[in-house]
Amino acid sequence: MSRLPIPQYVMALAHVAALRSEDPYRKVGAAALDKDNRVIGTAYNGLFPGFTAPEGFWVSRKDRQKYMLHAEINLCSLFKRGEARIVACTTMPCTSCMQALCAHGVKTIYYGEVYKESEAPAIAAMYGVELIQVPEYPLSHRFPLVQQSSAADGTASAADDAASEVCTASEAGTASEAGTPAAPDVAPATSADSATR
Ligand SMILES: [Zn+2]
Repeated sequence: MSRLPIPQYVMALAHVAALRSEDPYRKVGAAALDKDNRVIGTAYNGLFPGFTAPEGFWVSRKDRQKYMLHAEINLCSLFKRGEARIVACTTMPCTSCMQALCAHGVKTIYYGEVYKESEAPAIAAMYGVELIQVPEYPLSHRFPLVQQSSAADGTASAADDAASEVCTASEAGTASEAGTPAAPDVAPATSADSATR
């Protein structure tokens, strides 16, 4: 049996981490490897560590958005600059998360889904960071991480749902995500157990 290559290995780790997300609409996972390809940590999107969402919090897909701490920024809270060489994200990092990853000295970023509204490709090109899509990896065809529209908040349209996503990828090609991939990323990613983005 062939050996699992590093890109697929770290992507699978990110995917497993995403399964821990409490976000009913979009689960994003991330994983970081050091220079020896050893795992530094994993993280996922969620609320502030230890914070319990009040009743009804998850009803609105749009309103929850600004409170969500992204997987990548939670991941960055687990290491110092230069410690992580490779990071994998189940979705292409949004602009703010890409900036954070660059600031932390990450050299190579693998991602699964494309996020069209993200400026990550331009940032990567400017700073010489590798940004590589790895759509095929163990688990990639299982456990869908994005709830397709209709469910949960039946009020919003598919486009609205997608627009409320920050780190979303428009896999269906229909989404017109908000060009505001900012807010939540800047949220304090303090504590080390902020694995819940
Ligand atoms: Zn982000």
